[in-house]
Amino acid sequence: MIRHRDIEQLQQLSQAPGKTLTVYLDVDQTNAANRKRQFETHLKDMLKQLRAAHPDDDELTLTCDEAEEILRTIEPTGKTLVLARHRGLGVTFRKVIRIALPSFSYWSHGAFLRPLLEALDEHERFGIVLVDQKRARLLTVFLGDIEEHRDLISQVPPRPDSPTSDKLRSQSRMERHHDESVSAHVRTVAAEIARLLDQLEVDRLIIGGNVGVASELARALPKRLRGRLVEVLPIPVTATTDDILARASEVQTRIERAEELEIVRDLLKEVRKGGRAVAGLAATLEAINEGRVWKLVYLQGAAIEGGVCHACHMLFDPADERCPVCGGNLQREPHLVDRMARAVLDRGGHVEMVDGPAAEALRAVTEVAALMHS
Ligand SMILES: [Zn+2]
Repeated sequence: MIRHRDIEQLQQLSQAPGKTLTVYLDVDQTNAANRKRQFETHLKDMLKQLRAAHPDDDELTLTCDEAEEILRTIEPTGKTLVLARHRGLGVTFRKVIRIALPSFSYWSHGAFLRPLLEALDEHERFGIVLVDQKRARLLTVFLGDIEEHRDLISQVPPRPDSPTSDKLRSQSRMERHHDESVSAHVRTVAAEIARLLDQLEVDRLIIGGNVGVASELARALPKRLRGRLVEVLPIPVTATTDDILARASEVQTRIERAEELEIVRDLLKEVRKGGRAVAGLAATLEAINEGRVWKLVYLQGAAIEGGVCHACHMLFDPADERCPVCGGNLQREPHLVDRMARAVLDRGGHVEMVDGPAAEALRAVTEVAALMHS
């Protein structure tokens, strides 16, 4: 999980004088091509290309050797390894994150962190509040990790059992007292979570626990938080954090899939009406080479080979041997999609890898597509 101090270290690397090597590497073990540590070979190939682009840069050569050494100690526990190494300062950032990002390497003044920061930014933080008549727990879920922040217990007198005839009057008073106390508890919880949710920068909210109290809490929330409420779910207030995480992750995946599907549908609509989008490898490459791409959208795991012009660095279909633009030699690029993503990111654009139903919708038309600057 990326914590605050990680971001601080990254910011230090992004502002460091001299050059920093930044590597994004797909280490996802659900991808067969990465098993048996084959991602180490992928990194070697990538760094070889990088060195070829910076001949006689001894600092780069030494830093690349260190990066390969560091990779040997990395356990592929997530989807993407983010590695930034500044030799002069002796500073290394390494983290395997649970977000899929395109693989590429950079040798630049300041670590190249925009892909990571954008991905973190897009990934939503979920708040979960579980309430019953007297207790409230507040947790957050981010990047597949769950954290418990608060377990609040209010003083609520027990609700009396079924009334007996001689005690009817005092019974109803006790009931009223109990109900008022629950309402006070709900108001306290609403105020407390409003404060914490702002502090924790929660994007979306799930409420669970006792269904009646949960619904009352939903109504008691300040208006601005009500907009972030996704669902009221029957999760028991005593549930384990693992159970809560599993339930929250289901909701999160469902929302993210729906959002990706909308991106793909909008894009395909633009393609159909000949608007500001293109689909297919040839058209997308052309748009990238012309620097017109605002967002590249592609199937996660799309494996496409292509060529990169040695001279002008434009990207082409593998069928070509010489660069159609400048006549230079085309170098074979086994990871063309990553190279495309890098080209788009270099020019300030964005990338979106899609999975699930969005991938199915995209696959029906193409593997790669792009939305252009308007
Ligand atoms: Zn060329």
